[in-house]
Amino acid sequence: MYLRRNFPLTHEEPVPGPSTQAVHAGETRQRLGHSITTPIIQSATFTFEDSADLTAFMRSKVWGEEGEADREDYGRYGNPSIYAVERRLAALEGGEDAVLFASGMAAITTLLLASLPTGAHIVMTDDCYRRTRQFCTTFLKRLGIDTSVVPMGNFEAMEAAIIPKKTRIIISESPTNPYLRLVDFARLAELGKYHKIITLIDSTLGTPINQRPLDYGIDYVLHSATKYLGGHNDLLAGVIIGKADRILALRQAQGVLGSVLAPQNAFLLERGLKTLALRVQKHNENGLALACYLESHPKIERVWYPGLESFPDYALARKQMKGFGGVVSFTVNGDYETTKQFIDALRLPYIAPSMGGIESLVEQPAIMSFFEKEPEERLELGIYDNLVRYSTGIEDAQDIIADVEQALACIG
Ligand code: PLP
Repeated sequence: MYLRRNFPLTHEEPVPGPSTQAVHAGETRQRLGHSITTPIIQSATFTFEDSADLTAFMRSKVWGEEGEADREDYGRYGNPSIYAVERRLAALEGGEDAVLFASGMAAITTLLLASLPTGAHIVMTDDCYRRTRQFCTTFLKRLGIDTSVVPMGNFEAMEAAIIPKKTRIIISESPTNPYLRLVDFARLAELGKYHKIITLIDSTLGTPINQRPLDYGIDYVLHSATKYLGGHNDLLAGVIIGKADRILALRQAQGVLGSVLAPQNAFLLERGLKTLALRVQKHNENGLALACYLESHPKIERVWYPGLESFPDYALARKQMKGFGGVVSFTVNGDYETTKQFIDALRLPYIAPSMGGIESLVEQPAIMSFFEKEPEERLELGIYDNLVRYSTGIEDAQDIIADVEQALACIG
């Protein structure tokens, strides 16, 4: 049996499935105290026996000499508890290596700060996480880095936005938030390769169980591991997965920028990952059941969910996704106030930002993420007053639906 042996496996052995990888990938045989869980190495620094030990380590780390570089020296440069989870995430995404960060935003900001020179240009699709967009269009702008935002799914606009020799990266989410739009990974990867531009997919809503952008030739996959990967709303983390040389460069930049994950959060993340495949399967079932129910309800105006035939990217969803996720967005028949009444009448989901955890969460984006915007600005961003984002948890679909039914019965 290969399960107790070191991952990655040798080439002769079959690649294990995602559920097996979620439980075992990245494990090593050396277990402290025979512990089945990866111990939390809660240490800011790591010790050396003597000066010879230190010198051997430094020669190997700095000059690449043969020797004992396979250890840590300081917590900002690495930690065994964190490496174990990185190996598992790399295996799940089919990437060579992964680097964890303190949050999803720490991941994206570190990557962009580390890899873009002044004068560079970013192409980004719209309906993208608003803080990512804010970082690019305000913070990076101050450093002389410009961003063009193009409509999701419009490859002609994307190609037209590319500035030869300046555009360094194309950033897209898939599915997006809140409208769950998809980008064609194969087409995006091809475009990036043709123009020699790095491509990045924020796959937070997709999860490696439902989709694997690297398999299509995308360069980097990013997750807010705060969401489905952690899965329990008890940690913040981010991860970037890609080719080993790029991840090494990113890790070195992280050593300067300091956006490291805490070892205790690595432990929680690893625990969450063990049930990732099971949880995502349940999120997929609940998302689809809720979307189908809502679509046929007379008090619902419109539903966005990649698994519905009416969804604009349905064909693409069938092509590149194995499941369609737990988030369902919809507009209720009614205005700002009616929508508030509906949300207040719900008894099962918590009203809270975020998604991807075991508890169902609900929000009216107009009074949550986009509260500070004027109504006209919200409309320009496509955020309707009667829009609801429902992130299904892993409760029973029948209870989620019964609760939505009673809440809809409460509105006029
Ligand atoms: N990417 C997406 C798609 C998100 O939804 C979020 C957070 O909501 C982030 C990135 C940022 O992640 P974090 O909150 O872990 O910093």
